[in-house]
Amino acid sequence: MTTKDAYEKLAEMFSQIPPGIAYAPSIMEVFRLQYTPEEADLAVKVGLKGVKLDEVAKKTGIEREKLKKMLNTMADKGTMWITPGEQDPNYRAVGIGGPGLIETGAWGNIRFPHSVALLKAMHKFQHEWATRALPALGFPTNRVWPTPAALPDDAQPSENVAEMMKLAGYWSVSTCSCRLPHWVAEPGNHCSHLLETCLILGKMGRWCVQHGMAREITYDEAVKLLQKFNEDGLVHTYDPNWAVCNCCADCCVFFVGLKATGANVLQRSDFVARIDTEACTACATCADRCPVEAVAVDDFAVVDEGKCLGCGVCFPTCTAEAVSLERRPKAG
Ligand code: SF4
Ligand code: SF4
Ligand code: SF4
Repeated sequence: MTTKDAYEKLAEMFSQIPPGIAYAPSIMEVFRLQYTPEEADLAVKVGLKGVKLDEVAKKTGIEREKLKKMLNTMADKGTMWITPGEQDPNYRAVGIGGPGLIETGAWGNIRFPHSVALLKAMHKFQHEWATRALPALGFPTNRVWPTPAALPDDAQPSENVAEMMKLAGYWSVSTCSCRLPHWVAEPGNHCSHLLETCLILGKMGRWCVQHGMAREITYDEAVKLLQKFNEDGLVHTYDPNWAVCNCCADCCVFFVGLKATGANVLQRSDFVARIDTEACTACATCADRCPVEAVAVDDFAVVDEGKCLGCGVCFPTCTAEAVSLERRPKAG
C-alpha cells in the first residue's frame, strides 16, 4: 500500500456522495492532514454505510482491541462515526459535509499538532467548495431559521427553531467550523464574532462530546445562546435535528457562496422583515446589521423582500421597535 493509493481510494469513496469532491481538488490536503495512510485505508474498509466491529476486524485482519483503539483515535479526530451510547455500536467513515470533514477538523478548536495546518487547508477547501460545488447544485442545501423572539403570533411550533431543538433531547456547543478556519487562514481579515457558535444536537452532539469536539449544555442554555447569537448579529441556519449553525456573512461558507455567485444556496425562511415607517427613526442600525444588504434607509428603512432571508438579525437592536417579522407573501 502506498500513501498515494490510500488517499486516492478515500477520494474515490467520498466522490460518490453529492456534491462530488471533484469540484474541490484542495480536499486532498485535508485528507493528508486528517488521516495517517493507515487510517485512510481503514476508513475505506469501514465505508460509509455503518458496520459492526466484528465485521471490520474480519475485513482488515486487525486484532479487535487494537482495531477498537484505532477507530476511537479516528473518532477523536472527527473522521470516524461511532454510534454513541451503544454496547455494540455502528462504525462508519465520516463524510465530507453535513456533518463531515468540512466541519469536524475545527470542532473543539485547536486540539492536535496538525490542527493549524488542517484549519488552513479546510479554509481553502471550504472556499473552493462554496464557490464551485455548492452553487453548481442549483438548489439550497441550508435553511435560514427566523430568530424565535421575532416570530409573529401565527407562527407554528415547527417554524420555531427553539421548539424544534427541544425534540433533539441532547444539546452541545462547539467551535464554528467556518469561522475558526477563516480566522487562522486570514488573520486580520475576518469577523469579530464569537467562535463557539455551533449548536450540535441529539446523537451528533453526544458523539462530539464523547470525542472532545463539543461541550455539553442544557436545553435552557442552548436557547439563551440562540438569543445571544441573534443579538450578536448571527443568522440561525441548518437542521435542528442535529445542528443549528449561527452564521456570519464574513466566514460562513453559504454566505461566501451567495456573495460570490448570487446562487440560490440558502433557503430563506417563510418570514420577511417589515418596517413600521411611522415608528422608524432612520437610524440605519438594521441596514448595518443585515447580512445580505436587504435594507436601504432614506426617510425610513425599506426592506428588499427579494433579498431578505427572514432571519430577524435586524429585529433586536431597533430601539424604536419598528422591525417585525411577518409571513412571507406566497410567490405568484
Ligand atoms: S455554517 Fe455557519 S455556524 Fe456553521 S460552521 Fe459555517 S459559519 Fe459556522
Ligand atoms: S433600526 Fe429601526 S429605527 Fe433604525 S432604521 Fe431600522 S427600522 Fe428604522
Ligand atoms: S432585512 Fe436582513 S437582517 Fe432583517 S430579516 Fe431580512 S435578511 Fe435578516
